[in-house]
Amino acid sequence: PVVLGIESSCDETGAGIVRDGRLLGHAVASSMDEHARYGGVVPEIAARAHVHAAGPVVRAALDQAGLALRDIDAVAVTTGPGLSGALQVGLASAKTLAYSLGVPLYGVHHLAGHVAADTLEHGPLPNPCVVLVVSGGHTSLLLVRDLARDPVVHLGDTLDDAAGECFDKAARILGLPYPGGPAVDRAARAGDPAAVAFPRPLTGPGDDPYAFSFSGLKTAAARWAEAHRAAGRELPVADGAAALQEAVADVLTRKAVAACTDHGVSTLVVVGGVAANSRVRALAEARCDAAGVELRVPPLRLCTDNGAMIAAVGDLLVRAGAAPAPLDVSVDPSAPLEYAALHPVART
Ligand code: ATP
Ligand code: MG
Ligand code: FE
Repeated sequence: PVVLGIESSCDETGAGIVRDGRLLGHAVASSMDEHARYGGVVPEIAARAHVHAAGPVVRAALDQAGLALRDIDAVAVTTGPGLSGALQVGLASAKTLAYSLGVPLYGVHHLAGHVAADTLEHGPLPNPCVVLVVSGGHTSLLLVRDLARDPVVHLGDTLDDAAGECFDKAARILGLPYPGGPAVDRAARAGDPAAVAFPRPLTGPGDDPYAFSFSGLKTAAARWAEAHRAAGRELPVADGAAALQEAVADVLTRKAVAACTDHGVSTLVVVGGVAANSRVRALAEARCDAAGVELRVPPLRLCTDNGAMIAAVGDLLVRAGAAPAPLDVSVDPSAPLEYAALHPVART
């Protein structure tokens, strides 16, 4: 089937076309620059930007695929989690297209989209696999069986901040530009990761082996910066960035590889915006190599939010014979990841 996927949960408007596991075309527009001066995503601005971008990105994705609207066999759309107003714009667009084309509509969990992104580059996921989802709002270690059919097992989640949030907040402390993740990654290249001994939260003997905590790291970075300021010393930004990035990458990859080893799972998949981080990728590769675990990480352009990953889930759901969403399906801004299909009922 030819599946159109639409993503609008945060500040990226994405559309993608997938046929039988292959990516035929995709386009992403971002309102990131409009949020920069506020230091974070402003929901109302994001929603308005989706209204502008939804039409053009769908057309661009179709053009790239060399297809027309009439070629679409199903429409998949992110119904949660994310910003309510932003999700509603994508869902309204998707419903309109699906209903007017007479094709089924599928609501998709955004994080299942991040997971499925990898299949577009590396083919079907092995069953089972361990997935580390590291994004702006989530950090979870998952045991994934058949993504389209089986419930996802949460081995562990973050108890407070997400890894991406930690990068974003640390960037602000270091005086680096928004969005923080890519800025920390760039700044860290010139720094010494051993320059500052940042903590490795929840890695002690009595700690939950698969749970994460990043709020303490943010506090440690703030204290370190404050100590320099109080002493009138210039902040060694590159060293701070490198050391913080090392701490995050160390904790993430250590726990992810341990989850594979403990559960006898031979494949680790790392997805989400933070999977774009150069140190996370390098350390994951080194540790997987050492543990005899196969590592899969999507290409950079499919790590951050996009429509192709939502189309990828839709394609899996169609081929698994999943029931489509009713036409009065709604959004769920805080939906936990249980199943890839997310069809919240309308609230009256
Ligand atoms: P969620 O998927 O949890 O709803 P989101 O969709 O906003 O959140 P993503 O688009 O998956 O998140 O990822 C964005 C996050 O990834 C941001 O926190 C950003 O700073 C981070 N990020 C992007 N590139 C990098 C990088 N190179 N290094 C570290 N972090 C990065
Ligand atoms: Mg974004
Ligand atoms: Fe995301």
